[in-house]
Amino acid sequence: MATQGKVSPGIKHYVDAASRALKKQAEYIRSLRKCRFDTIAVHGLYSMEEAIDFNQGSIIEPVYLSTSQAYRDADEMEAGLGYLIPTWCYSRIANPSIYYYEGVVALMEGYGFKGDVSCCATASGMAALRSATDPFLDDKLSPGKPKNFVSTCQIYGGTFQQFSVRKPEHGAECRFVVDSNDLDAWESKIDKNTRFLYGEAPSNPSQSFFDIAKVAELAHRHGIPFIFDNTVATPALLRPLEHGVDIVVQSTTKSLITSGFAIGGAVIARKGIRAKYATDDMRRDFGSYIKLLPNRDNGPNFSPMSAILAINDMRTLRMRMDHVSQSTLKISEFLAGHPRVEKVDYLGLKENPLHRIAKRYLFLVDSEFDAAYGKPVNRYGHLMSFRVKGGARAARQAFDALQRIYRATDLGRIKSVATIPAISTHSQQGEAARKMADIPPSLIRLCVGAEHPDDIIADLDQSLSKVGGRVSRQVPMEFSFGGASSPIVRK
Ligand SMILES: *Cc1c(COP(=O)(O)O)cnc(C)c1O
Repeated sequence: MATQGKVSPGIKHYVDAASRALKKQAEYIRSLRKCRFDTIAVHGLYSMEEAIDFNQGSIIEPVYLSTSQAYRDADEMEAGLGYLIPTWCYSRIANPSIYYYEGVVALMEGYGFKGDVSCCATASGMAALRSATDPFLDDKLSPGKPKNFVSTCQIYGGTFQQFSVRKPEHGAECRFVVDSNDLDAWESKIDKNTRFLYGEAPSNPSQSFFDIAKVAELAHRHGIPFIFDNTVATPALLRPLEHGVDIVVQSTTKSLITSGFAIGGAVIARKGIRAKYATDDMRRDFGSYIKLLPNRDNGPNFSPMSAILAINDMRTLRMRMDHVSQSTLKISEFLAGHPRVEKVDYLGLKENPLHRIAKRYLFLVDSEFDAAYGKPVNRYGHLMSFRVKGGARAARQAFDALQRIYRATDLGRIKSVATIPAISTHSQQGEAARKMADIPPSLIRLCVGAEHPDDIIADLDQSLSKVGGRVSRQVPMEFSFGGASSPIVRK
């Protein structure tokens, strides 16, 4: 909300009412923050009072599909559009259903973190990345000077593309760090024109990991923020704000919206970030800043229907991440002992060179309060990858033979999905960049769903047994898109 200068009595009437409502909201949030993670994920910002007094007693958050809000009079409209009162005026700017989504995502990412956190919903993870980074690359912040940022090179393929192709279109240089555990490598790329540091861990697909707190310290020593993609771990296993990260981005499309019913993203930021290239508004409350200003003008906004689908899936995040992490560990152990597998990349495996560092960061939230555990337990998530002996051809044979695990460029789903990153998610970046990030064509990325792990193991076992055999083609089928279809016969 903007600070009010001199306002008319009519507007003041609304501003006073809003400040009473905000006080109540702050009290509710304070009481909720005392609850455990599951309670927060299940209830979020939607209180019983709100349900009974304002929403027909509906126990589930309502979907407000309306594009816009009607105002009582001109004073309320002026106060609303001037950001003097909380309002949702127009759904590109704000919307009640999206408010519930932003609220619960902020609470989950901010769980255990002492400071205040705000969140801005976006239409996708890519939109979240762009919304989180572009404000720091604004030319106005140092006119006529070059600008750069430093990022790990083990990142999602779309992120690599945005950083190495789109950012330079606007004059920003991305400097990649190959070994993210080498602090000197980070530091050697930082200069006086560096605007922020960027990292992703565990990375997609290669399961890289690094000492997050150390890189955050380094960023702060240089007076710049550290932005971090927490999509793979989710807040059920890692809350980067606790480790010094300033801004978290999420592709909520993945494990948060596990049903696969929507594409979505979020930017979650601590209030009061250290950033020498920023405006005061950005430093004070970055999440609200991008929501109310750049994203209002650029329009990368989320849909209210998607917000409700997301909220529904996120309620069970902790228990799902526990279950799928345990299944993934079992499946990785199976693959690690399989004669046709060259190497398994999973941070949960003791022989993984990054296991020790990941073990310091990746814990199932609240496991110390869980009756079954009673102490902190490590969980490493459901993304893993493995390399098939025999190179690209063998990997494609095993991949083509999968019968239960879907071949799809996706992850985080309630159903297991697999992809070959070199020909899909990471195809655009080219072979040299894939080499740098260690993504060979024999590598299959598997994201384990909530099926029983024995059935996934059985599918992997039968598909690996097809490697080296005669190539069997699929049956003739119809290929259709829209209403049109054409028969395809594969020979
Ligand atoms: C998928 C993904 C993104 C991009 O998110 P979209 O919702 O697909 O735009 C960013 N980072 C990671 C780690 C991802 O897996």
